[in-house]
Amino acid sequence: MEDIRTLLQANGFTFKKKYGQNFLTDANLLRAIVSDAGVDGETTVLEIGPGAGTLTRALAGRAKRVVAYEIDERLRPVLRQTLAEFPNAEVRFLDFAGVDLPALERELGRYVVVANLPYYITTPLVMRFVEEAALCDGVTVMVQEEVAERFCAEAGTPEYGAVTAAIARRGRASVTRRVPRTLFYPRPNVDSAVVRIDLSGGGIPVKSEKVYRDTVRCAFLNRRKTLENNLMQTFRLSREEAAELLSALDVGEKARGETLTPQQLARLSDLLFVRGVR
Ligand code: SAM
Repeated sequence: MEDIRTLLQANGFTFKKKYGQNFLTDANLLRAIVSDAGVDGETTVLEIGPGAGTLTRALAGRAKRVVAYEIDERLRPVLRQTLAEFPNAEVRFLDFAGVDLPALERELGRYVVVANLPYYITTPLVMRFVEEAALCDGVTVMVQEEVAERFCAEAGTPEYGAVTAAIARRGRASVTRRVPRTLFYPRPNVDSAVVRIDLSGGGIPVKSEKVYRDTVRCAFLNRRKTLENNLMQTFRLSREEAAELLSALDVGEKARGETLTPQQLARLSDLLFVRGVR
């Protein structure tokens, strides 16, 4: 296979910053990402942002089927060439943000997501799968190192936040590898990491996903305030009612939301649900 840089040049391709076009070319890294994503001959992969198709090709070499969504039509001739030997890979030239996820799931059945996207899109994308997907077994994404820390953070650390708690309710996030900026073409100005979020285990059960989401939002509403104050403000509770909830959780009155583990947040959301919060 022709070097990807030569292929891009031969097609007159110019990189667009707004689409976060930093491509991976290192064969060992590409193989490693496929293996991190847990892809085998039975797997259907949903890839978002195939770029020049280097990762797509590595995925298609292992998976049953790869369906990829690429926003940039200019990559059509490049992808036609990089994927020529892979009839099990299909690229759809669409902005993934506009894709109807339930309809796509009806078409794909069970699947895993693999994505190396512009960083500003990755967190909303991960949240979408965590909160809305029904048939997704895992999400493997390349993110900026700081974002990787946030996805996998422990309660009480500065990196822990609403995103961490949302992910932890649905699955387990772990950093599978660090990726230095030198492995991208063109080279970005940050280092990255691959994070795998395993969604196959069912996560922490809650009585209402909506109330859990609202509880998380409340817990991180104002990091300077106590959880008791945030509960009073969000759910219009008296101080006594808020204190009662915290004592049922065995959490002190002065506790701050960011010290609660996802399990404690789930319990709090169930207690709020039982009190009639919807
Ligand atoms: N996966 C390739 C790789 O690893 O070499 C390319 C990665 S590059 C960081 C991101 C790719 O996502 C680009 O090809 C870009 O055009 C595409 N992209 C950006 N926003 C997108 C969106 N909303 N929907 C689909 N593709 C998108």
